[in-house]
Amino acid sequence: MALPARERARRALAALRTMIPSPQTELSHTDPFELLIAVILSAQCTDERVNMVTPALFETYPDASAMSKAEPEEIFPFIRSVTYPNNKSKHLAGSAAMIMRDFGGKVPDDIPELVKLPGVGRKTAQVVASVAFNRDALPVDTHVFRVANRLGITSHAPTPIAVEKQLKRAIPKEEWSEAHHLLILHGRYTCIARRPDCSSCAAKPDCLYFERLNKLPATRNDLDRRKGKYHCGTCGRYLSVLKERTDRYGTVQAACTSCNSMNLFDTNSGKSIKRVPDFRVN
Ligand code: SF4
Repeated sequence: MALPARERARRALAALRTMIPSPQTELSHTDPFELLIAVILSAQCTDERVNMVTPALFETYPDASAMSKAEPEEIFPFIRSVTYPNNKSKHLAGSAAMIMRDFGGKVPDDIPELVKLPGVGRKTAQVVASVAFNRDALPVDTHVFRVANRLGITSHAPTPIAVEKQLKRAIPKEEWSEAHHLLILHGRYTCIARRPDCSSCAAKPDCLYFERLNKLPATRNDLDRRKGKYHCGTCGRYLSVLKERTDRYGTVQAACTSCNSMNLFDTNSGKSIKRVPDFRVN
């Protein structure tokens, strides 16, 4: 019987805790201002890269007051190696100026005010509110989106906001912040997008994606690759051309042009070519 989302979440988080004993942000920071700047810089960039540029940046501009006096062109050289340095220089200068002008020199501590800062979207605001100010937030980035859907805590949630809503229903409020870091770190190091390392994952006994992978037909070693690139396991024909069919999960699959079956094998490897639904933020 399918596990309810809450029970699935409880088991998954318990398993992830055994793998990630200290779930916290990997962005180096010493105060809310540095965290805010680091999170803005980390949009579509790695934390590792951001941590390489922030020491020199924070030495020159240690607080909002110092950074608010800088022009974007002066900030640019410090962050040229992160993604979108032109836009991010403007966002950093603009955010520091707004913090001085509208928030008394302090990073605001709630989400509706944080999102007013240039370069701060809902996700960035939630990370800052959660990590710097201990607010209840569960920001969904590409890792959280993929891992939550793969584990089956969320059910085919199509957008980050849908994932956030389902996660908040499935996970107790006091665990949101920890869950956010557990899911991110698991997605970054184990449940990676292209090739999840399921063999070393403690969450696999209850993972929906892993369960579906294991339901794929066994590899065949009786196929003759000279007869065609593909073999239909249902009608027994060899084929070189396939057609497309959408399965009940909405995943586009290859299908046999003769019998319409999706039970197809690559004759070179003998492996099933059936796709297990996977999850990426579009
Ligand atoms: S079993 Fe595999 S797919 Fe499932 S959470 Fe672990 S690494 Fe990800």
